[in-house]
Amino acid sequence: MTVAEDNRTESRPFEADVAKLLQLMVHSVYSEKAVFLRELIANAADACERLRYEAIGEPALLGEDTKPRITVSLDAGNCQLAVEDNGIGMSRDELAEALGTIARSGTKAFLDRIAAAQAAQGAQEVEENVLIGRFGVGFYSAFMVAERVEVISRRAGAEAAWQWSSDGKGSFAVSPADPVKAPRRGTRVVLHLTDDAKSYTERFTVERLVKAQSGHVPVPIAIVEKPGAEAAEITDGAALWAKPKATISAADYTDFYRSVGGQFDEPALTIHFHAEGRQDYTTLFFVPGTRPFDLFDPDRKGRIKLYVKRIFITDDAEILPRYLRFVRGLVDSADLPLNISREKLQESPLLAAIRKSATGRVLGELERLADKEPEKFGKIWENFGAVLKEGLYEDFERRDALLKFARFRTTASGDAWRSLKEYVGALKANQTAIYYLAGDDTDRLAASPHLEGFRARGVEVLLLPDPVDSFWVMAGLSFDGKPFKSVTQGAADLAAIALVDAKGAPAGELPPATKIFLAFMKNTLGDAVAEVRASERLTDSAVCLVASDKGPDRALERILASAGRLNTASKPILEVNPRHPLVVALADLGENARSLKEDAAHLLLDEALLLEGDRVADPRAFSERLARVLGKCLHKGAD
Ligand code: ADP
Ligand code: MG
Repeated sequence: MTVAEDNRTESRPFEADVAKLLQLMVHSVYSEKAVFLRELIANAADACERLRYEAIGEPALLGEDTKPRITVSLDAGNCQLAVEDNGIGMSRDELAEALGTIARSGTKAFLDRIAAAQAAQGAQEVEENVLIGRFGVGFYSAFMVAERVEVISRRAGAEAAWQWSSDGKGSFAVSPADPVKAPRRGTRVVLHLTDDAKSYTERFTVERLVKAQSGHVPVPIAIVEKPGAEAAEITDGAALWAKPKATISAADYTDFYRSVGGQFDEPALTIHFHAEGRQDYTTLFFVPGTRPFDLFDPDRKGRIKLYVKRIFITDDAEILPRYLRFVRGLVDSADLPLNISREKLQESPLLAAIRKSATGRVLGELERLADKEPEKFGKIWENFGAVLKEGLYEDFERRDALLKFARFRTTASGDAWRSLKEYVGALKANQTAIYYLAGDDTDRLAASPHLEGFRARGVEVLLLPDPVDSFWVMAGLSFDGKPFKSVTQGAADLAAIALVDAKGAPAGELPPATKIFLAFMKNTLGDAVAEVRASERLTDSAVCLVASDKGPDRALERILASAGRLNTASKPILEVNPRHPLVVALADLGENARSLKEDAAHLLLDEALLLEGDRVADPRAFSERLARVLGKCLHKGAD
């Protein structure tokens, strides 16, 4: 690109997702519009921290201007508010890239949820408020209070300055900025406020907001109350995490959590500790009170920031394992060398030691909370249990620690959470395994026919509704010496456990007619099932499907099948309740009514599939059979 070309003003449309987000911001009913100021200040602070980091290798970038600073300037006469920093700044391309696209993870999930809320009319306002609050909209939130935004920026080390501007209605323009008026280094964001946002030009309002929302941002913030006035410092930029715990209030922590974690809720748990000895470092971690939007993003990235001697290094150091990716906060090490490259950092034994001890600390705190404050812990588990359980198959070393505070809904728990310790404490005589049923919905699981024989014996069964459950249960884990066993797998081996309900009595020797009927069913169904056999686990229902003892259980088979990864050789076993009146009646038909029995065999298999929340094998054949069988009944009834 030639210099001449580079100097022209260029207008570009926003990326589609930005346009959607802006449309939302401009028309937002979000009640806490003041968060725009926190977002702009957070960006300014990030820019100062990034400069400090780059200047470790290239001190010339700092020049004379070595102290990071953020200035909020007010201009009531022109209805403007500006946030300026002397941080890293943006080049022309960086301006267009950073402020024309969205890098924020979870954006897609956020936009989908908003669209769904809008479709479900009535709830829109409430939903939108909650969702915007939880998403954290970043730079674009400026358009909640401004009809036009200008960003004037000069990248550290560069001569040229650039201006980005937009009214938030579909496009933005980038042009050269007047080098005299542009910041010497860094970025100035100027908001032309809408009429109803005029109060953001009053010193009192803005100062109060900055202190409340951004009081612990690690860069000092000053205010210029009108054009030409002196800058007055309103926050000192001291690192909150370095202060003694006793001097920090809950409100201080919340404020810091929100600015460091990009969250808008209250933290559910705050973990602040200083480790000394072989390693000297400070950790300030927060478990969010609600699920962040990027929780189930495929990259499963964590967001813990790494500082070395209060200088921000990276938020990509994977301090905590992926199954703790919901934790927000930072680690500040006194021992890591400052000028270490990011690549070297990953291999550093010092960092490995910090990872290990920080992870142990988080798990220890969770366990303590689970013991001491079960209600508070229950809320955390509700939000993040599905993620924590990933650790059960990923983190071999810490499985036992995780199992200690893992909580479950079971056939005996009602709406409360059960621990494995409680489960094992309530084992029945001769019960040797921890039984579970995996699927995708706790209520539907609770209604599954597979549970009948277990209910008849008062045997508790874990109900596992998360996709991750089907995997960790296969990892060969045990608790207190008891293995985990699926109730949809293998023979039910319930005979040794005493009944509390006579309906579950074992079938004993099958009547010959039943044996013949089961063989007839297998013959009719052919390869659709591996086997048809009498069931020990059914008391009320006629049929259910089970998996063989080896390989995946039914829930995992379904997950693998939908991912196209199931070995087609594995077929389910159809279990039939030999005492069910329908089965008894069909068996009693003997050699008669062959076609009716054939239809019945297929319909029973379809019933078992439906009970699992699956689809019938062949919907057309299913409806024809149903019509035929009903027709026969009606015909008989007319006789
Ligand atoms: P996020 O901060 O989560 O990345 P934002 O929407 O707040 O998302 O900002 C988008 C991007 O714009 C930032 O990642 C950064 O690259 C750039 N940016 C915004 N404000 C500044 C600033 N004051 N200085 C330098 N870069 C900035
Ligand atoms: Mg930001």
